[in-house]
Amino acid sequence: MIISIDDTDSREGMCTTYLCAILMDELKEYGTIRGSPILIRLNPTIPYKTRGNASTAFEITTSEPEKVMEHVISRVDELSELQSEMTNPGVVFIPEDRSEKVKEKLGEFFLKAVREVLQIDDAKNLIANLDLPSRGWKNGRGLIGALAACGAMLNPGWDHTYEYLAYREKGAWGTKRQVDEESVKEADLATYPNTWDTVDIANNAVVCIPHAGDPVLFGVRGNGIEPVTITSRMIISEPVERYAIYKTDQGTDLHLIPVERIADIKDMHSYTIEATVDTRPETIRGGHTIFSVRDDEGDEMDCAAYEPTKNFRELVRKFLPGDRIVFSGSVKNNTLNIEKLNIISLVQEQESVNPTCSECGKRMKSAGKGQGYRCKKCGTKADLPELVEVKRGIETGMYEVPPCARRHLAKPLVRCQEKESEKNGKVFPSR
Ligand code: ATP
Repeated sequence: MIISIDDTDSREGMCTTYLCAILMDELKEYGTIRGSPILIRLNPTIPYKTRGNASTAFEITTSEPEKVMEHVISRVDELSELQSEMTNPGVVFIPEDRSEKVKEKLGEFFLKAVREVLQIDDAKNLIANLDLPSRGWKNGRGLIGALAACGAMLNPGWDHTYEYLAYREKGAWGTKRQVDEESVKEADLATYPNTWDTVDIANNAVVCIPHAGDPVLFGVRGNGIEPVTITSRMIISEPVERYAIYKTDQGTDLHLIPVERIADIKDMHSYTIEATVDTRPETIRGGHTIFSVRDDEGDEMDCAAYEPTKNFRELVRKFLPGDRIVFSGSVKNNTLNIEKLNIISLVQEQESVNPTCSECGKRMKSAGKGQGYRCKKCGTKADLPELVEVKRGIETGMYEVPPCARRHLAKPLVRCQEKESEKNGKVFPSR
């Protein structure tokens, strides 16, 4: 049986993945947990999310499905942050004998939940049509994420990575996390590039430790169970109450919809689009860098590298009208929030400088306004300045925001290095 849970936490406490980890331990009494639990990230632009729009699911082989469902419902009821207005839990069960029948429909629902904006009734109607055991609390919005996680579990073919999540003892929740940062840096070096986003070297930040009041102590992301485990075990910290290793769609770009025309872009969706820079980037109050791009039809749209993207803005500020770039990111308020980009071509800009002397090779001096140039050494004259190419200080290739600004779903360039470099030229992972 598949069990999926979503929307149990609030900004003040709990975490759906923690509840999932507790249930996996408690349910061992009724059966055997099969394979890895999953942690899927859904549409990152959804305003109802607490933090990263996650949903979870796991699979159990059991001869006591009724008892399992009863236990899950009573624990979600007990442990969810139901007093919070934003918390609307949902739980969905897929009994083993129903899996094949519902697989395809739920697979489609999963992809929609990652890329589109769904209504609570979309989930409720599908649950009713497929006649699935479920439970929603309050407005039942969590049923959307829960149903999507069932779809992901039933259709395991999606690109995936892993995350090792270590949880704090209850008494420590809400207090400052005690983690030895030096040990984190060493742990990162031991497995990078098979793990990533543990630290952000350029911005001198440890990024695997959250700051909110939730039970997560740290999370290590990587391309396999082994590297995330090696790194996690090297981290010296306060006591870890429990941990779980999730298979996840984090770091896969599953949210990105490829489009060719700006006219096809809608708010609250995420895209990959090739366009031409139309205006010079401007940095506005707050440190956000904004510029406009144009597609081949002549339609325009704003792109932004917001302040939290830190050193990435230095790259973006070098763009010039005419540069041809593939942008990836989510669109809100008609502005694409850049997650990564691929510079296809850069315009050549020329500037005029004093010419070099044709006789002795020295740089000539101005001979006075409107009087051309003159070599101070040998006296040779020239009428016109020399045109030289302006050094752009950037090159074609793929770039990304730094780890401290990474979206959960964004595929880090360390994962693109081999394959993409063959197709698209150079890859510059941010670290
Ligand atoms: P956590 O820190 O535990 O991951 P969260 O950031 O995942 O919290 P939730 O509390 O799960 O946030 O809230 C997100 C809500 O949005 C859930 O109710 C989920 O069902 C719903 N949701 C997820 N994807 C979509 C979507 N594509 N369209 C509409 N609603 C969605």
